[in-house]
Amino acid sequence: MLTRPIDLRSDTVTLPTSAMRTAMARAEVGDDVYGEDPTVNRLEELAAQRVGKAAAMFVPSGTMGNLCALLAHCNRGDEAIVGDQSHIYNYEAGGASVVGSVAFHVVPNQPDGTIALDNLRAAVRWTDDPHCAETRLICLENTHNSCGGTVLSPEYLASVAAFARERDLLVHLDGARVFNAAVALGVNVTELTRHADSVMFCLSKGLSAPVGSVLCGDEAFIRRARRARKVLGGGMRQAGVIAAAGIVALETMVDRLAEDHANARMLAEGLAGFPQIAIEPARVQTNIVIFTLRDGWSADTFVAHLRERGVLMGDMGSGRIRAVTHDGIDAGDIAETIAVVAEVVRGVRG
Ligand SMILES: *Cc1c(COP(=O)(O)O)cnc(C)c1O
Repeated sequence: MLTRPIDLRSDTVTLPTSAMRTAMARAEVGDDVYGEDPTVNRLEELAAQRVGKAAAMFVPSGTMGNLCALLAHCNRGDEAIVGDQSHIYNYEAGGASVVGSVAFHVVPNQPDGTIALDNLRAAVRWTDDPHCAETRLICLENTHNSCGGTVLSPEYLASVAAFARERDLLVHLDGARVFNAAVALGVNVTELTRHADSVMFCLSKGLSAPVGSVLCGDEAFIRRARRARKVLGGGMRQAGVIAAAGIVALETMVDRLAEDHANARMLAEGLAGFPQIAIEPARVQTNIVIFTLRDGWSADTFVAHLRERGVLMGDMGSGRIRAVTHDGIDAGDIAETIAVVAEVVRGVRG
């Protein structure tokens, strides 16, 4: 039994660093609903500048950031094109439909997280026919969570942006982990974000802040998004206390994501050594490792056996298991994880 759990369920389990705690304790604050919290204002300016947009809005969660984006871009009855594996479609409780009467037009994600241009082309209703809803928005996700942390390239994003311009559509980027994508590609994050009208990214995942995400776009978009955030109850008061940690996250926690990527690759290579596990390590691009089990082994049993031995992974359903590396996981933890997996595959059967 390990002395502490090795928690690979998500990068959301990261704890605030001591620099964040200090910044939080010292944060200058005011009422952010009046726009008077200097620390929130500083975070929003920094975030907008980092992703190359004119304006930004701090939100309590990525889910609220994406929802505010859909509400700010779409009218009631408009369609938003989303991938069938996307977080917005699968894991946000259908918020844009529930709250905004926005219809999702669902198209397949390719295994690499992209949506094929042909599928986009076929999904767009470009007609004045009153039978049809109006297509307004294309949503992309980078990195793509359910596709295994895959990176959408600047070239692909540019091709979707060009298509969207041609059809008079908008593009929203669910960039919960867009800094992981930038670090993996070795490019400035603006190479990815400049192809989208709006981008949401999370401070609370690999960047290790305790709470919060940021939605970025042009001034008029962010004005509409602020109204949406108020509707959702996301207007916070002395939010500088948490925004302070977000500033530390952006300033100090981006470059280290490369370590998480190296650890994820190491984990994938270790797992590939077990004949019971199906995984292609070469497809692991960032901090997410997704694998399945061969020979009818059940994912929930496997995950339960790991848990008994102090290693936590996520059962994603459909036999898929997810492990995510982050600031709380080092190379030694990966070695221990592989040793525990070895025990489990020996013990569970055979
Ligand atoms: C985590 C995540 C979100 C939502 O963020 P929360 O802060 O958990 O609401 C959105 N999109 C993707 C791709 C995510 O991984």
